[in-house]
Amino acid sequence: MVRAIVGANWGDEGKGKITDMLAEKSDIIIRFQGGSNAGHTIINNYGKFALHLLPSGVFYDHTTSIIGNGVALNIPYLLKEIKALEEKGVPTPKILVSDRAQIMMPYHMLLDACEEARLAGKSFGSTKSGIAPFYSDKYAKIGFQVSELFGCPDELMDKVKNVCVLKNVLLENLYHQPPLVPDEVFATLMEYKDMIAPYVCDTSAYLHEALKEGKNILLEGQLGSLKDPDHGIYPMVTSSSTLAAYGAIGAGIPPYEIKNITTVVKAYSSAVGAGAFVSEIFGDEANELRNRGGDGGEYGATTGRPRRMGWFDAVASRYGCRVQGATEVALTVLDVLGYLDEIPICVGYEYDGKVEKEFPTTAKLEYAKPVYKKLPGWKCDIRGIRNYEELPENCRNYIDEIEKEIGVPITLVSNGPGRSEVIERKPLI
Ligand code: GDP
Repeated sequence: MVRAIVGANWGDEGKGKITDMLAEKSDIIIRFQGGSNAGHTIINNYGKFALHLLPSGVFYDHTTSIIGNGVALNIPYLLKEIKALEEKGVPTPKILVSDRAQIMMPYHMLLDACEEARLAGKSFGSTKSGIAPFYSDKYAKIGFQVSELFGCPDELMDKVKNVCVLKNVLLENLYHQPPLVPDEVFATLMEYKDMIAPYVCDTSAYLHEALKEGKNILLEGQLGSLKDPDHGIYPMVTSSSTLAAYGAIGAGIPPYEIKNITTVVKAYSSAVGAGAFVSEIFGDEANELRNRGGDGGEYGATTGRPRRMGWFDAVASRYGCRVQGATEVALTVLDVLGYLDEIPICVGYEYDGKVEKEFPTTAKLEYAKPVYKKLPGWKCDIRGIRNYEELPENCRNYIDEIEKEIGVPITLVSNGPGRSEVIERKPLI
């Protein structure tokens, strides 16, 4: 059985925590898109970790972690991440890397940083991890696949020379940087070959066998629906699909094998990078939620930059669940809201006096004003509660209201960052 764990919002919903928790009963956990540009924060018996490339299932002895073909594979970063786990006493995880994954090159990161600098105030808020140049090259068919490292060296060198010609036009003329030298790019690829060799696998064939054997497989998404290049807030999106449907492609499994799409929804909103954010709040109100949010504040796991904050957005979350194909929802960081007398939720978008419930395309989104409904707060700390019935009534009402708005059964409620801080819930719909 394949279960996808994906985000309904702008990312940072707590997918890592839910994956870490569900990985206990899984055999294989797969990252199927994105790269080291966003982090998952995980707190468990080994300590606190910010994973960027490794799937959040690496903490168990019995699991196999797979970097799927859809991932932007930063090889030195992957090795650094594995070493950091070992240094903190985590047993050496079993890791397989798809032979069809493409390689993040140093010039992708350089081009990303140069472009962000060129755009200055109009930038996309990239983490400069090279993601956009990487995926552009993949689809322009000038990326390097892991398998090519193990092929004919002369053919690889020919390709390197061609790529350098193209990249140097931009580097020298637009960004005024020193040109790439083919011998150096080739040498980097050979270093990467030695580093990645122990992990390389035909993961699609491996997964085909695993499915036949009835193994439990988790697909772990990065970011969320609203950052999807097709269905998100284009162009303020990431460069690979964040949707569960892409899990089939980015892992190399049949789409019909994905039986459960657990969509992680955050009890309030947060976002990084630029782009319209209808229920955004500012000033002291935002600072208070930011400082109380997550596990010790809503600050980027990769960059440390403060996240933009907002109230729960039912319009965006309902749409986010729909495009994921959510079969169930895990509602996270609910405990954070315990300080509020009343809690606004955005139930509609207003344009020129008309209220709509559908999430629009980006141009229209810029003009949307939030329509809020206020629910009474519960004014206490709900951490430590393990039975749903023990949650305060106003807290259960808040969950019921969100479930009604998004139209997807909420089966898990997370009330703390730790692995065991989760409550099972019987959905009302
Ligand atoms: P991901 O990218 O979706 O995995 O999310 P992140 O790891 O970036 O952000 C989620 C943050 O919230 C992390 O700091 C988690 O430790 C934390 N977190 C997850 N679930 C909960 C929860 O239920 N309560 C609290 N207080 N923090 C949580």
